[in-house]
Amino acid sequence: IDVSEESYLEGLNEAQREAVLTTEGPVLMLAGAGTGKTKALTTRIAHILASQRAKPWEILAVTFTNKAAREMKERIGKLVGGELEGLRWTGTFHSVAANILRRHAEIVGLKPSFTIIDTDDQIRLCKQVIEAAGLDEKRWTGRGLAAVIDGWKNKGQTPSDLPPHEADLFADGKGIALYREYQERLMTLNAADFGDLLVHNISIFRREPEVQAEYHRRFRYMLVDEYQDTNVAQYLWLRLLAKGGDGEVPNLCVVGDDDQSIYGWRGAEVENILRFEKDFPGAKVIRLEQNYRSTAPILAAASAVIDNNQGRLGKTLFTDQDGGELIKLRGVWDGEEEARTIAEDIEAEQMKGRSLSHMAILVRASFQMRAFEERFNTNGIPYQVVGGPRFYEREETRDALAYLRLVRNVADDLSFSRIINKPRRGFGDKTLTQLSVIARQNGMSLAAAGQLMLETNELKGKAKTAMMAFLASLERWREEAEKTAPAPLAEMVLEESGYTDYWKNSKNVSAPSKLENLKELVNAASEFETLEGYLDHVSLVAERTSDSEDGQVWLMTLHAAKGLEFPVVFLPGWEEEIFPSKRSLDESGNAGLEEERRLAYVGITRARESCRISFAANRQVYGRWQNALPSRFVDELPEDQVDVLSEPGLYGVSAKEMPAQSRFADLVLEETSSRYETPGWKRARQHGRKRNADPSIEGTARLVASSAPGDETFCKGERVSHKKFGLGTVMRSEGNKLEVEFDEVGNKKVIASFLSAA
Ligand code: ATP
Ligand code: MG
Repeated sequence: IDVSEESYLEGLNEAQREAVLTTEGPVLMLAGAGTGKTKALTTRIAHILASQRAKPWEILAVTFTNKAAREMKERIGKLVGGELEGLRWTGTFHSVAANILRRHAEIVGLKPSFTIIDTDDQIRLCKQVIEAAGLDEKRWTGRGLAAVIDGWKNKGQTPSDLPPHEADLFADGKGIALYREYQERLMTLNAADFGDLLVHNISIFRREPEVQAEYHRRFRYMLVDEYQDTNVAQYLWLRLLAKGGDGEVPNLCVVGDDDQSIYGWRGAEVENILRFEKDFPGAKVIRLEQNYRSTAPILAAASAVIDNNQGRLGKTLFTDQDGGELIKLRGVWDGEEEARTIAEDIEAEQMKGRSLSHMAILVRASFQMRAFEERFNTNGIPYQVVGGPRFYEREETRDALAYLRLVRNVADDLSFSRIINKPRRGFGDKTLTQLSVIARQNGMSLAAAGQLMLETNELKGKAKTAMMAFLASLERWREEAEKTAPAPLAEMVLEESGYTDYWKNSKNVSAPSKLENLKELVNAASEFETLEGYLDHVSLVAERTSDSEDGQVWLMTLHAAKGLEFPVVFLPGWEEEIFPSKRSLDESGNAGLEEERRLAYVGITRARESCRISFAANRQVYGRWQNALPSRFVDELPEDQVDVLSEPGLYGVSAKEMPAQSRFADLVLEETSSRYETPGWKRARQHGRKRNADPSIEGTARLVASSAPGDETFCKGERVSHKKFGLGTVMRSEGNKLEVEFDEVGNKKVIASFLSAA
């Protein structure tokens, strides 16, 4: 590395330079969105490397999402102008912790070849634990147990760390015992879940001070981005690494923004930021105030929204980028229309020469993505989903990975049971039950139990031949794995196991695409030298990264968008109960709502030039239509920074889809057409807010529906009466969508169900 200091310091402001150049001792950079915290952090790494203070592998740099970690490496690469192979401790908390755990797995009773299981497997395993304990499975779900266990792991607590009363959190006092059983099963499977990665690291450091000291010495410089979102486990982990017991002051630089703390629900503690100065006395606190990312209206809107939160540290933000487009606000009929208008906007931007990858749609909840995915497929707009491990969640991908995991780790029973009869090998349910009973009785893996059943002659006929053949293949693949690269190995395993043929012979309509996905999986494996490396990548990254990132619109959750920026940002679904989420509104106190508001702040501040917010009057939730109200966050946008785009009567839906209970929708759409802040709309929203006091949204919907007249059809020329607009004459009718010339308010498009014959 050979770069002059000036080249990378150029363009940084005073405070940023200070953050870069204060390499020794603890540093806390506390500043609002887009002020160049990450830029300063990456420049700091570049500076440490360029000034030869440390080798790339002596730097620990962690952040939260894979995309952010990748961008961090890219930014450093640009600054120092080189390949950064050596930055092997730069990544997400999870990936770094997984690396450390691989090296010292035995200390916590795992083999280095352990599997990292995903949420889906975690829930399945929890379900098995509940089943084995003979609990009422309707009352105590696998998902519920997994959530409680995650909560403990987020606090860095193993079963023996927990005070007895914590057991009450699940199954009437059995919580801790179930947690212990779950951990034991993971050990037998030679597996770890995501939460374990850090918890096991912590145990390793506590049990083996030499190991802790080794890493403490190794990481001469430590950096953490998005520090406001660290949970207790991450905090403990960092402390163990930073304070090696040698009394030396660590060179630890953390960067954060209390207004962007959005993982409280996962146990993140914004207090970690506040505690930093106490933990590391003499820490230098650096504040940045100039926002370089967004135009003035975007920054003003974001600041106005977040200003509604109490108990903020408070920060001033300013920008030099005066002028710029106002926030665009659009009310639409339903989710489908929202997707359609956004797709049209995207195409219009593209026509103007904007690259697709400069646009992103940020949703509150992943279920909102479907409408966009469908619309993009229809319009042929290439898109990329981030954070939703779409590709790796598919059935065929999961099956194929189960084969590979089993090859790496024969004791991986979750994988074994997933594929033992896929394709069908002639094992009946009885044999499989017997297999798991024997495995449990002998405390062995399913594969070993299969072997035992062969030896004791318990298997007969077809099952016997099938088991012999399967175990023999498995053995052969394991030998191959020693000398074959992951891609050809994967291809071989899928061929020889009959799995590829299973889909080739399938009449399933999606079989061809499934076969393509299997090919894609082999392609993905070819980027790795070892099977282990590939499987880790899959477990941790689980993100589809295609080569053509440039030509695709981004689709992701607000949570996944943290730290990123895009010239154009779409923020759909700003409706009560979606955003803020129903869960946050049901909670007592303000904490949940304030976290949602921080999420709104994160969303708006991702935009550089254009921020477009929308809300629909109707939403289909679990297949049922519900009327929706604009989010309170819409209200909090400063009026003078907003441009309302909705056109009157822009419904564009068929009569069939028009729910009878859309009184609010009607109001909303009509009011949006004039100004969104009119009293009628506000009333409608207030009315809707009260609804939150009523636990059931369906209840309200029914109430409204019962007071609304049923669908009636009117003909051209007929005289009608509308509650709000008075008397009028039907000019045109299309299903139950009518155009009426009202005597007093003129031409309007209205829904038949709000009219009665005059
Ligand atoms: P967030 O809180 O959203 O993570 P951040 O504080 O990390 O934001 P960055 O992503 O580092 O902010 O920077 C935001 C944008 O401003 C980037 O495009 C970055 O290149 C640019 N930027 C940062 N500092 C400067 C500077 N001194 N001069 C010009 N541009 C800058
Ligand atoms: Mg950042």
